[in-house]
Amino acid sequence: MNKHLTTVAGVAVDTRHWIGGERVASTDTFPDASPIDGSVLADIARGTATEADAAVAAAKAAFPGWAATSRVERARILHAIADGVEKRIEELAIVETTDNGALLRSHRRGVMPRVAHNFRFFADWLLKLEHGDFETRGHSNHVSWDPAGPCVLITPWNAPLMLATWKVAPALAAGNTVVLKPAEWSPLTASLLADIAAEAGLPAGVLNVVQGYGSEIGDALTSHPDVRRISFTGSVPTARRIAASAAANLTPLSLELGGKSPLLVFADADLDLAVDLAVEQYDNAGQVCLAATRFLVEESVAEEFTRRFVDRTMGLRQGDPRDEATDIGPNIHPGQLEKIDGFVRRALAAGARAVIGGHPEDGQYYAPTLLTDVAQDSEIVQEEVFGPVLTLQTFTDEEEAIRLANDTRFGLAATLATGDPERAERVTARLVAGTVWVNCFFVRDLQAPFGGSRLSGVGREGGTWSFDFYCDVKNTVTAPNGWTNHG
Ligand code: NAD
Repeated sequence: MNKHLTTVAGVAVDTRHWIGGERVASTDTFPDASPIDGSVLADIARGTATEADAAVAAAKAAFPGWAATSRVERARILHAIADGVEKRIEELAIVETTDNGALLRSHRRGVMPRVAHNFRFFADWLLKLEHGDFETRGHSNHVSWDPAGPCVLITPWNAPLMLATWKVAPALAAGNTVVLKPAEWSPLTASLLADIAAEAGLPAGVLNVVQGYGSEIGDALTSHPDVRRISFTGSVPTARRIAASAAANLTPLSLELGGKSPLLVFADADLDLAVDLAVEQYDNAGQVCLAATRFLVEESVAEEFTRRFVDRTMGLRQGDPRDEATDIGPNIHPGQLEKIDGFVRRALAAGARAVIGGHPEDGQYYAPTLLTDVAQDSEIVQEEVFGPVLTLQTFTDEEEAIRLANDTRFGLAATLATGDPERAERVTARLVAGTVWVNCFFVRDLQAPFGGSRLSGVGREGGTWSFDFYCDVKNTVTAPNGWTNHG
């Protein structure tokens, strides 16, 4: 019996790091609990600078070989990883749900197929990547996308495998090697990904997975001189620490951070559609960076919108995320629940009114909440809660709607409900957001640029933008008569 293997919902998961094609234990472990019932699922190897250094060394050693592997062969292996993910969708889905509490039905039908698609998409995009050859006064210019080197990828717990593979796939496709550090609250599927990648024939050291608390292993990864790229998805305070640590080597950073995105509902909108979009904001128990958590509703329809929204919210089923009928699962951690409740209690004390919810439920659940009577400069309107807590404010004209929408330090996304295409164009042009959805929400194509403005992030990922980040782009200029001495 291997004491490093744990069984989660019938699936064997190795709790050790994956470094240089081998499982590596640490002296210490940390407990990983399920948000469903608080039970400890596993004792996970607790990495420190030692494991960070070993993983970067393995990534560095594997880099020349992987970078020299043909694009066609790299693409083949990425497709093989996608095949492995598809074969294990059920296992990945149940392990992820048990570990982070998000709905099993969406892991099964949306998230895990998307994980496989991340590998297929970037494998195919690699083969289409333009070289961009052109001529200058008879000289040829050849633009090449050279792999950058070892990349450190650090990811959060709210969509663990989805967000990890959205970075791992383009980094590997580009010819880089990777050290992935999953979040300590939901590390299990990253370990399964290591198994799948090895089975798919990914050479040892090309993908490494290290686990641990960010405060203990993070700095050793992000300040390492052999690391050529750092891609981080997570919170603003952590991003600041990572940026400071990366500054020593000026390591290029991609930062996908939080948001406080608006949903603008104009009186000319299809109100049923607007309410559909609004109710979606409780997805993943509100733990979605892109969530439109601030409803900005034109005054003349605000009462009717609120009535229909509350009706719909009352019909949502909160409970065990493994149950197909559940709409809202638990929040990730007792600490996160406490944080959510703190935001709500302070908002209520400052004069906000809970139209619905406003309190925790039994276990690790928070009642879906809508707060009104909130001031624009209040904490609840300005700061990301990352739980099922939404606010509603009204506006009287387009100008005011835009002003309120843009008046936070974030700029990740914005959603618009309007029946007027000209208004949509006018408003969209003035919104500060990396993504604007008009009469829809969460439609995301992997070739689209994704990222945020202001405190929501630095850089864009997706399609060519990902390759731009994960590659050292080189231009080679050759003279027209440069070969006279040859032969
Ligand atoms: P977090 O910043 O606490 O942790 C994210 C990761 O960083 C974890 O793996 C953690 O271990 C690691 N980390 C912590 N300290 C570190 C350090 N000093 N050095 C290196 N790594 C360190 O974020 P979280 O609570 O896990 O995630 C929630 C946040 O992520 C929210 O703000 C949410 O909006 C954001 N998010 C953004 C996107 C996006 O694409 N923009 C997507 C999902 C989540």
